[in-house]
Amino acid sequence: MATDIADPAPQPSYPPVAIDVAALTALLDGDHAEVRNLVRTNLAAYASILEEQEHLDRAAFRERVKEVVVEMAATGQTGMGFPKEYGGGGDVGASFAAFETLALGDLSVLVKVGVQFGLFGGAILQLGTKRHHDRYLADLITGRLMGCFAMTETGHGSNVQALGTVATYDAEAGEFVITTTEPDANKDYIGNAAAHAELAVVFAQLEVAGPDQTMEGHGVHAFVVPIRVDGKPAPGVRIEDDGLKMGLNGVDNGRLWFDGVRVPREALLNRFADVSEDGTYSSDIDNPNRRFFTMLGTLVQGRVCVGGAGINASKVALAIAIRYALKRRQFEATSDEQEELLLDYGQHQRRLLPLLAHTYALHFAQEVVAGQCHRVFSGEIAEDADGQKFRRELESRAAGTKALGTWHATRTIQECREACGGAGYLAENRFAALKADTDVFTTFEGDNTVLLQLVAKGLLTDYSSEFEEMDQLGMVRFVAGLAVETVVERTSVHKLFERVRDLLPGGDQWDQEAGVLDSDYQLAMLRFREEHILGGVARRLKRGIDSGMNPGTVFSRVQDHVIHAARAHVERLVLEAFVDKVRAMPQDGDQGDNRVALGLLCDLHALSLIEADRAWFMEHGRLTVVRSKEISRRIGSLCRRVRPLAHDLVDAFGIPEEMLRARDLIE
Ligand SMILES: Cc1cc2nc3c(=O)[nH]c(=O)nc-3n(C[C@H](O)[C@H](O)[C@H](O)COP(=O)(O)OP(=O)(O)OC[C@H]3O[C@@H](n4cnc5c(N)ncnc54)[C@H](O)[C@@H]3O)c2cc1C
Repeated sequence: MATDIADPAPQPSYPPVAIDVAALTALLDGDHAEVRNLVRTNLAAYASILEEQEHLDRAAFRERVKEVVVEMAATGQTGMGFPKEYGGGGDVGASFAAFETLALGDLSVLVKVGVQFGLFGGAILQLGTKRHHDRYLADLITGRLMGCFAMTETGHGSNVQALGTVATYDAEAGEFVITTTEPDANKDYIGNAAAHAELAVVFAQLEVAGPDQTMEGHGVHAFVVPIRVDGKPAPGVRIEDDGLKMGLNGVDNGRLWFDGVRVPREALLNRFADVSEDGTYSSDIDNPNRRFFTMLGTLVQGRVCVGGAGINASKVALAIAIRYALKRRQFEATSDEQEELLLDYGQHQRRLLPLLAHTYALHFAQEVVAGQCHRVFSGEIAEDADGQKFRRELESRAAGTKALGTWHATRTIQECREACGGAGYLAENRFAALKADTDVFTTFEGDNTVLLQLVAKGLLTDYSSEFEEMDQLGMVRFVAGLAVETVVERTSVHKLFERVRDLLPGGDQWDQEAGVLDSDYQLAMLRFREEHILGGVARRLKRGIDSGMNPGTVFSRVQDHVIHAARAHVERLVLEAFVDKVRAMPQDGDQGDNRVALGLLCDLHALSLIEADRAWFMEHGRLTVVRSKEISRRIGSLCRRVRPLAHDLVDAFGIPEEMLRARDLIE
């Protein structure tokens, strides 16, 4: 390889690293290798769907996707998270592993699975009680009963508390009456609604007559509503197809209107609240905001799944682009005998290898969040105050990992497409579908920007027990009032230095003394940034409120700062997950060289993050010009060291060869 003229010092020679691909795959697969392998086998068996996606018309493709989903369900792969007594696998962690792995294949199949088993099935399981489980679970797990999750409306997506669909209790009939009350209160974008669902879990404002017979609102609740009978819309239900989408055209998204649709009292998914026959509303959770967030909190699994899916879709793109770059030659660069391989170009390494490193980092961060979620839903976490805090932190981590994982997918897939030149543009090489189908991952299961605000809310309130009771404005008041002193104190530059000094030698000069390849230095940099930004947000919120400004205006003005704080926090969590993983690996045996390889990737990941935000670090006196240049140089040299390992590193993802359709490109 060419000597780096930007780095004239003699290049040190490193002992060669020999990756044990099978052992690395086993490490990545973690506790659920068996489930992941089942899904890999199923993906290979249904590989033809990748081509069918290109030439079947929309109606036929939807039917084909449904057929594949139901056949996959028969293998047990889609029911892992449901209780065994209804035919499920009784293992929430396995359900994440299965879903993530499915993202290596056609993404309409993935999303249809997500809608049917995650959203629809998940709502019945988590928000319903035994009567709903007995009635629906066994059939929905097999796909005999298809359903949808009807939350979003044309008028309201992110702001679910403002939904306009109303469910009024009619005590005489013992029924709820579901009505679309406003022109934009129809359900929209609902997966499975346009063609296949018989039932919908409908989110609506519950209204019950109070003691003086005036209607009282109790906030958003979920109801099981039949929307289709014998293939036709049920009485009072209007269904429209959402039509052609940017991607995911194997999923039938649609709109729903309800015109006084009557469902029995038992249709209320009543785990958290109930209405008695005579119309008495009851709930163990008094505060309506807390009740709402508790309900939504039980649906966090969907968010965990989508984040994991985004990360795995990135693996497919990287596997194709890196293998292409190891086959494709352009221009004579170092000798005139043969043109150069793309991956031997410094810029090509710079484009792809940090993305590979981020993908590994996110994989391990996803493993942490999936593991925590498994613990919560398997009943390992108590219901006491500590357990509640654990749940709030999980929700925040799930939101943050989903946001970063799906944005990463969008960025990575685009870069990989470009890295394959014109060949990347041909549909048969997968990028067309990958780009189109993953694009919306940044929006559904919570818009990423809105999710990062949720992350910041948790940070600013330190996951206070009042967290769920606060809306955004309440949070601003809370931060500006009670908590600000704590946040400001906690994040004062003085304290930050103290904490970071504990991590690293070098006293006040820690950021000058430590080597840039020291993980503690990298973590300290990210922690310093996170806490400094957070302190700045708290101070700005306080200043705004103190000056008499409306809390909403204050928040809006500080919002970019809020998002930066959340992103900085999640990036620190991701790096921590990666560092912890590498540190836990044995230094010898079959994982010995793998540890070295992952150590290189971990450094590449961390330094790329610091480099990307170097303006901030320099503005805040944490990065000198000399050190900043050193970091960029190190990234170049890490890329060169990862370059010979790149093929093995993407092979270790364990993507079935059938999913890498680009045969001519990569073999
Ligand atoms: C293909 C597809 C499938 C879907 N499937 C389902 C389904 O099965 N069931 C279901 O219920 N829903 C589904 N959805 C809906 C999806 O969950 C919503 O689209 C999503 O929650 C975002 O809502 P919205 O579209 O109303 O966007 P909005 O909330 O209107 O957001 C629009 C933009 O405004 C920004 N924004 C919003 N609020 C703020 C704020 N406070 N501060 C700053 N910026 C803000 C957002 O960042 C975003 O960029 C699906 C959507 C799609 C596209």
